[in-house]
Amino acid sequence: EKPARRNAPTAEPARSSVKLTHPDRVYWPDAGVTKQGLADYYTEVWPHIAPFITRRPLSLLRCPNGVTGEQFFQKNAWKGLNEAIVLLDDPATAEVEHLISIDDLDGLIALVQSAVLEIHPWGSTVDAWEKPDMIIMDLDPGEGVGWERVIEAAQEVRQRLADAGLAAFVKTSGGKGLHVVAPLKPKAEWPEIKAFTKGLADAMASDSPDHYVATITKAKRPGKILIDYLRNQRGQTAVAPYSTRARAGAPVSAPLAWEELSPAIGPAYFTVLNLPTRLASLGSDPWADFRTAAKPLELGAAAKKKGG
Ligand code: ATP
Ligand code: MN
Ligand code: MN
Repeated sequence: EKPARRNAPTAEPARSSVKLTHPDRVYWPDAGVTKQGLADYYTEVWPHIAPFITRRPLSLLRCPNGVTGEQFFQKNAWKGLNEAIVLLDDPATAEVEHLISIDDLDGLIALVQSAVLEIHPWGSTVDAWEKPDMIIMDLDPGEGVGWERVIEAAQEVRQRLADAGLAAFVKTSGGKGLHVVAPLKPKAEWPEIKAFTKGLADAMASDSPDHYVATITKAKRPGKILIDYLRNQRGQTAVAPYSTRARAGAPVSAPLAWEELSPAIGPAYFTVLNLPTRLASLGSDPWADFRTAAKPLELGAAAKKKGG
């Protein structure tokens, strides 16, 4: 039996009936995280991660021999998938290959059983494939960029989204950068969302050319931050909030409150080992209002504001 938890919720915690084979298989040797440890982590954060990974196509990073072994980035279903994993057909293509999704905790634990160490969802759900329910601005610092500058970039993205009438939330990537995420009421379609995010990134690069670049070909410029808006295209993905990363130390992409941004919390500060404790001691998720803060992207809203 599971020991009683601090701050135990009144409702029974979710449990999965999916059976793990080789639960002691080590996925992150340096952090000592096993397959069972990963399943326990996801069971713990399930209520927090569920809205971001259910009912949407998923790209998956699989590492059958853990983070030090071979890695496979998969967008399509493979043979022998657990029945808790839900196959999808993209309504816009005649593609014969199935896309992958999950509906519940069993689906998530089935991904753990399949050695999925990173979960990268689409920004739209199966309820409205063409209409994203979030925008993701991915801030990629080049060599030599200090963390304070990445924080400033996130705050500027937040301000520019606010100018367009959108709320914004921030998370560590679990890698090198930050992600600023704006919840949307699904209304505008992918091409409009892409054009809006390109406009935002281009404006930052032209207003502060010493600090920002907005084109992938200039991505590796030392001292500059790439404002990567290209997550916001149909079929593109970004790592989910609370997803683990297949990198040293078992980092996770961790939702933060804006006030928490500080040099003390680097991009890989939160991990499988410390994130559940953090959530328990916070009492509430820093992204608890994510969905209720969603607004539709009103076309021309940003331009109107600029013009007065
Ligand atoms: P970092 O902070 O280190 O930049 P990140 O998750 O933002 O972490 P990026 O390299 O900026 O990483 O973004 C890569 C994105 O591209 C991922 O979010 C993923 O969804 C997508 N992607 C596309 N193809 C691949 C692939 N083969 N392997 C990993 N990610 C891929
Ligand atoms: Mn990035
Ligand atoms: Mn990127």
